[in-house]
Amino acid sequence: MTPEPVLAAVAVTKHFTVHDSLGRRRVVRAVEDASLALRPGQAIALVGESGSGKTTLARLLAGYYPPTDGQIQLRGTPVRGTSKAYYHDVQLVFQDPFSSLNRLKRVGYILGRALKLHGHARTQADVTAAVHALLERVNLTPAAEFAAKFPDELSGGQRQRIVIARALAVEPSVLLGDEPVSMLDVSIRLDLLNLLADLRDSGLALLYITHDIASARYLADQITVMYAGQMVESGPAADLVDTPLHPYTQLLLASTPDPDAATGRQQLFDAEQQLGEPPSLIDPPSGCRFHPRCPVARPICRDQEPPQVTQGARWARCWLLTETAEQTPKDRSH
Ligand code: SF4
Repeated sequence: MTPEPVLAAVAVTKHFTVHDSLGRRRVVRAVEDASLALRPGQAIALVGESGSGKTTLARLLAGYYPPTDGQIQLRGTPVRGTSKAYYHDVQLVFQDPFSSLNRLKRVGYILGRALKLHGHARTQADVTAAVHALLERVNLTPAAEFAAKFPDELSGGQRQRIVIARALAVEPSVLLGDEPVSMLDVSIRLDLLNLLADLRDSGLALLYITHDIASARYLADQITVMYAGQMVESGPAADLVDTPLHPYTQLLLASTPDPDAATGRQQLFDAEQQLGEPPSLIDPPSGCRFHPRCPVARPICRDQEPPQVTQGARWARCWLLTETAEQTPKDRSH
């Protein structure tokens, strides 16, 4: 049976107001009509380039700011403002482990403070035991040795494990990872992905944000692809990667280097040339936002937004799919 969502975005839109160099008021359409549901023991990957809106969506889910339209729901209840209890449930892990930790404090102090702030340990003996348990949970052993270290004495991967341990100190139900492995050496990314998979398997609801669709395929049960503030495709991770429906997803996959292919570097170069620059979110393209970069665009793509087309457990928004599948423009459940 599919578990009920812990945290959900329901038709969420976020616009920001900025002023240009001439002082004119402009609207940045960072996220539009985005929906997703995070369930215990499952991982959803949000994939897209910089500026696709995935970080804004994570921050909406984390309660950093309210949506312009739509709802964030915690266990089915609309979230209005956030509280300490909300941060008990929902924790956000950032990309940069180097700036996330106080370099002047030992690891034991950093984790102990989070435990005490959220009332999970009171006496010094409790704090020490809980700190050691957290370090063991993120595979930093011997725990006593790591608790005594300063962040500068750790590698990037070890620091990101401390950041994750600090998030776990509040015993959250949901972990939102905003590019949590992208600043780490390739050699240690897999270890971190395996740690996140273990946390998911222990019952945490996980959102994994990345521009790397290969790592999304490795970790996530479901992948949702964002482009220029909109969700353009979603489905079970293996199906989406094996047979992408949307031309943007196809290009994203083509721009993932294949280490086994002799022509991998040339393929990557060609795909990146094809992708070109992402569009402005202040004045996005009409119709399908991908049409200026789409190699198979049609005249209708310039004028009209494509409907959401459902194919079994998957959906995508592309005019090319309308001839072959059931159209469900109002169906946002996924
Ligand atoms: Fe390309 Fe048109 Fe599909 Fe957009 S709707 S992805 S422009 S074919």
